[in-house]
Amino acid sequence: MRIPLKKINRALKKRFGGRVQAVVERGVLVLRGSAEDWDGVVAAGRLAASPKSRWYTVNEVTWPGAAQRQPKPVPQTDESLAGRAPDVLLIGAGVTGAAIARELMRRNVDLLWVEKEHDVALHASSRNDGMVHPGVDLHKGTAKYHYNRLGNRMYGGVCAALGVPFRRTGQYLCFKGRAMRPLLYFTLPYWKWLGLSGVRVLGDKALHAAEPGVDEALHCGLLFPQAGIVCPYGLTIAMAENAVQNGAHLSLDTCVTGMDVENGRILAVHTNRGTVRPRIVINAAGVFCEDIAQMAQDHFFSIHPRKGTNAILDKKAKRMVRTIYSGMGTTATKTVHSKGGGIVSTVDGNVLVGPDAVETPEKEDFSTSVQSVRATFEKQRHAAPALRESDIITYF
Ligand SMILES: Cc1cc2nc3c(=O)[nH]c(=O)nc-3n(C[C@H](O)[C@H](O)[C@H](O)COP(=O)(O)OP(=O)(O)OC[C@H]3O[C@@H](n4cnc5c(N)ncnc54)[C@H](O)[C@@H]3O)c2cc1C
Repeated sequence: MRIPLKKINRALKKRFGGRVQAVVERGVLVLRGSAEDWDGVVAAGRLAASPKSRWYTVNEVTWPGAAQRQPKPVPQTDESLAGRAPDVLLIGAGVTGAAIARELMRRNVDLLWVEKEHDVALHASSRNDGMVHPGVDLHKGTAKYHYNRLGNRMYGGVCAALGVPFRRTGQYLCFKGRAMRPLLYFTLPYWKWLGLSGVRVLGDKALHAAEPGVDEALHCGLLFPQAGIVCPYGLTIAMAENAVQNGAHLSLDTCVTGMDVENGRILAVHTNRGTVRPRIVINAAGVFCEDIAQMAQDHFFSIHPRKGTNAILDKKAKRMVRTIYSGMGTTATKTVHSKGGGIVSTVDGNVLVGPDAVETPEKEDFSTSVQSVRATFEKQRHAAPALRESDIITYF
């Protein structure tokens, strides 16, 4: 596939005045140079690629604060795994690792599963909205599109098998102005083409009957019936327990720190509990997957971590929210980047509001801020004006 290198370099020159350049190496676009701050690093990435780009991009642009960042120290060291040679070494015990472990154990694989934290689901997999996305904003032909659709369909069966609560609530995108309603009908062929069946246009009455908390100024909406909600850590823990019951060896407090690689093959994997020699390595390390890929000398993508703050409201807020919804087309929703979400009715009967989306160089920045909570409420009140910060029982 052709990478428009000249065009990208022109755009980078305009923004960075020659301090950042793009080159193509091993078929991958690589950005090098220095930016004024982390936002500059992210801007370079955005100039070089978009979610629609078909090429891989590695962003090696540095910024003044980069040198001060300290990696989290590894947990205590011992040799308890030294000499192990499992069929598969699986790195990371979030929802992705847990799903992979469960599937592998159905095939009786000798699995060593390592997680650097003291429990499963301590990173993004315990700190999200629990929305099972229908794939409204995905691009046909991408891997994300393919797997989102496949995964969405599997949720009912997997959750039933594990006894994990899951509700296919549907998701409403609500719009201002009665004039929008006929236009929404024109979008229906697009959703069908995207593979989303059963999408419906709702008028004023139907929308407010379905979701009584929706702002009266929102007159119509689209219903995506494939959307659902699940408890993200509940699902991860259930899949992990299932894998362990079926023979997976899960080693917690175990951090992968390096690899020996020869001719493109991983010969050994170093951890704080000794060196192991697996036949296959599976990388499910979340936002750290690029670091693991780098250890395996297979660095072909970069991750710009992005955090968001969510608030959980008291159950009395439930009268406003039965499903998942958000208001579209207001100034508050026209943000540069988003993590999706909105106003979500959780499987426990609470209401979850958020998240916002903040670029951060830190992959383990779990901090929250009052500004984020306020910004989230301000945005979501365009859809549900009765949302009150005083109903918050916790935030994360
Ligand atoms: C605010 C927010 C809201 C979101 N809402 C939704 C939503 O509603 N729906 C949705 O589908 N997605 C949502 N997401 C995204 C979703 O949370 C993630 O895509 C998902 O949790 C990623 O799971 P994972 O298993 O790939 O990664 P993680 O959960 O991050 O797990 C990776 C694990 O790898 C471990 N690890 C990393 N490096 C090493 C190493 N060197 N050695 C050993 N272990 C290592 C980490 O400790 C971690 O436990 C949201 C994300 C955020 C931040």
